[in-house]
Amino acid sequence: MSQTLHASCHCGAVHLTLPAEAAGVLACHCADCRKMHGNFNAFLAAPLADITLEGAGALVWYQSSETSRRAFCGTCGARVLKEVTPAGRWLISAGLVDGPTGKRIIKNLWEQSVPDWYDLPSVAP
Ligand SMILES: [Zn+2]
Ligand SMILES: [Zn+2]
Repeated sequence: MSQTLHASCHCGAVHLTLPAEAAGVLACHCADCRKMHGNFNAFLAAPLADITLEGAGALVWYQSSETSRRAFCGTCGARVLKEVTPAGRWLISAGLVDGPTGKRIIKNLWEQSVPDWYDLPSVAP
């Protein structure tokens, strides 16, 4: 099965495709993600080599830590992706996928940093 998921930002300047074989959605509750996403960061990870990107010029990059940088759309502000150094894969915001993903949240990351205003999302077996 080599299906493809299509993802785009709110204004449509940025389009991505990633392989549907990507494992499930990961939910990161760390303080960095919370500050930048306003909530937890739900993402799909895929190898860089398997991702296509249109509208790269619309992306604004932000060095969010010593080992990672993140990209958002300079027009609509959508959080598009996180890249961990050394770059080998991108963590693409799950909310950007258009249509059904066929995925569930499979893991919570940084559970110890969850704020007091929501409960951890349940994780698919
Ligand atoms: Zn946009
Ligand atoms: Zn995080």
